[in-house]
Amino acid sequence: MKVSFPHMGNAYIPLSALLSNLGAEVIVPPRPTSKTIDAGALHAPEFVCLPFKVNLGDNLRALQMGADTLAMVSGMWACRFGYYGRVQHRILRDAGFEFESILLGREGVGAVYNKFRDTVDGNLTLSWLRAFRAFKRKAEAMDAIEKSAREKRPYERDRGSTSAAMDEGLRLVHEARGLKEADRALDGARELLDGVELEDVMEPPLKVAVLGEIYAVLEPSLNFDIERRLGEMGIMPFPVMSVYKWLFRPLKTDPSILIEERRARRTARPYIAYVLGGEEHQTISGTINAARNGYDGVIHLYPFTCMPENICRAILPRLESDFNIPILNLCLDEHASPTGMTTRLEAFVDLMLQRRRSRSKG
Ligand code: SF4
Repeated sequence: MKVSFPHMGNAYIPLSALLSNLGAEVIVPPRPTSKTIDAGALHAPEFVCLPFKVNLGDNLRALQMGADTLAMVSGMWACRFGYYGRVQHRILRDAGFEFESILLGREGVGAVYNKFRDTVDGNLTLSWLRAFRAFKRKAEAMDAIEKSAREKRPYERDRGSTSAAMDEGLRLVHEARGLKEADRALDGARELLDGVELEDVMEPPLKVAVLGEIYAVLEPSLNFDIERRLGEMGIMPFPVMSVYKWLFRPLKTDPSILIEERRARRTARPYIAYVLGGEEHQTISGTINAARNGYDGVIHLYPFTCMPENICRAILPRLESDFNIPILNLCLDEHASPTGMTTRLEAFVDLMLQRRRSRSKG
């Protein structure tokens, strides 16, 4: 089985570990570029949201690279994400590709479990257990490396040195075989990050919450690597979600993620009483929490035509005045450019700096 899946941040690291431990050959398509988006947009319905087009482009690339099985989360979300897998796979079959589908959520756990009966050597249950342990260990390592890089970047002496250490650390973890090697790779990544030279800064970095639609927040190729950009501008970003949480939330194995989600819904309820099927409660509660915790601003990322986040977009101006916190709304589509992003970020940083200074004088 040559299996592939679309990108979502660094999720390919734990997902590759899971699938390769189940005896599959994993095909990881290159990180999405404008060409990926163009290829996806060519086959996608015009008004579908941007992540659909990027995922479709990833799947196309994977099939061209020889994948014979495509995996995707599927389900009954109120927003369009629940239909991504089924619709994308139908579009690809209509375009002439032949492949097997693994639609997690749609097919049920038993069916997905049995798909690997022919690929594993020996006991299937033991292979799943081994695969899950490798998946978890690599997901934790990935999360720890991303977090450490985020904290160091605003203080780095040489611009780009933290990102280089992070990329190398992630590569070590990705290539590690077995749990012990994964642990050693994490130690190696920590050493690399500890080796990044830092400098003293005159004033503490501005703190910014980054929130919105999950793919727009977590996929660097879609958001022009906003986390890296902010860090290299001396800003400390706090993404409200992470790839780790996205992977483990549906598995319900980490109670802290579920508790956090329940709290978010409670905080957001006065402004949005309904479940829209996206990350609306995290967008609203994340903005309120950012103001309560003394952050300097909020960056709201959302794809053009995203239903839940366009509703949030209408609520956020009220939060901006109720909680006195500046919000930068960044709408992403296939025409967004890195230059446009940089210009808007620079203007927002100036605004936050002036606001901080006038507040400290006041
Ligand atoms: S959350 Fe928005 S962008 Fe994501 S699938 Fe749903 S409608 Fe599309």
